[in-house]
Amino acid sequence: MIIGFIGLGHMGYPMACNLLKNKQIVIVYDKSEDALINASHMGAQTVNSIAEVAQAADIVITMLPTPEVVQKVMIDPDGIFKNAKEGTLIIDCSSSDPHLANDLAAEANFLDLKMLDAPVSGGVPGATAGTLTFMVGGFKEHFEEARPVLSYMGSNIVHCGPSGTGQVAKLCNNLLLGVSTVAVSESMSLGAKLGLDPKILAGIINTSSGRCWVSEVYNPYPNVVETSPASNDFKGGFATDLMIKDLNLVLNAAYSAEQPLPMAALSKQVFQFISRQGDGTLDITSVIKMFKHDKM
Ligand code: NAD
Repeated sequence: MIIGFIGLGHMGYPMACNLLKNKQIVIVYDKSEDALINASHMGAQTVNSIAEVAQAADIVITMLPTPEVVQKVMIDPDGIFKNAKEGTLIIDCSSSDPHLANDLAAEANFLDLKMLDAPVSGGVPGATAGTLTFMVGGFKEHFEEARPVLSYMGSNIVHCGPSGTGQVAKLCNNLLLGVSTVAVSESMSLGAKLGLDPKILAGIINTSSGRCWVSEVYNPYPNVVETSPASNDFKGGFATDLMIKDLNLVLNAAYSAEQPLPMAALSKQVFQFISRQGDGTLDITSVIKMFKHDKM
């Protein structure tokens, strides 16, 4: 079996590496030449187009930044749908739009292709360790076909329901991630400003009722958690502009569901402010700069 992988960024690269470590044959494409060179060093076969991946693979995995890119990569004349073999299983792991996921799955079905939306949670640490959570929408039999491959990259693989429901789960999760990143940033910078050692404060929070994934694993205060992007000048990890994309998707979905989401809307404004300062490519933990003005 040949696995195609398109999109070798912060998440896609370590995910593809875990397929290779598990002795899978992986054929890859990314528009970035550097990404292709890195993947070839890990043992992946590289090609020069999406069409070549689609023509060769039995399963195609995509890990792309936005719904717009996902749509283009799927439906362009030189994209996956027009070039994949009949019966190919397409697994889109990007965080995207539930309505788009549903439309693409219907189109794939019409073309005798199988399509799942399978966005992930766990960040770069989870992608590297192979411990991602996969939230999967689509037919149950397609999910069962995908499960062994996904298990090379994740430890929690959940069938959420029909097409689009994986993306719904992801949006609900990232609503909380966005809000909690801003909230932990507020708390950590207040404590430090009032004279408390940030490491002591994080230790207290992480054994108290304020504890959450951001405070524990992804603390935005620099040098509190060594593996957090905050301890690496906010580089790597999950770009602020991608969080803004996700919160826009959350708010669009809420609009169609007539659901008020004040916390999601407010946290989006905070990330938007950071992006406008020129820090949109930095990790979401860089939001703490808004609350802590001295040199970090
Ligand atoms: P990224 O920007 O680091 O990677 C995206 C990759 O896609 C890049 O290598 C880029 O060159 C490639 N790409 C873009 N357009 C392309 C095209 N037309 N053809 C081929 N390759 C193309 O993004 P990321 O952080 O890896 O995130 C990918 C997806 O996963 C996003 O939807 C994001 O919201 C989601 N996600 C990210 C994280 C995280 O912590 N970074 C966590 C969970 C989910």
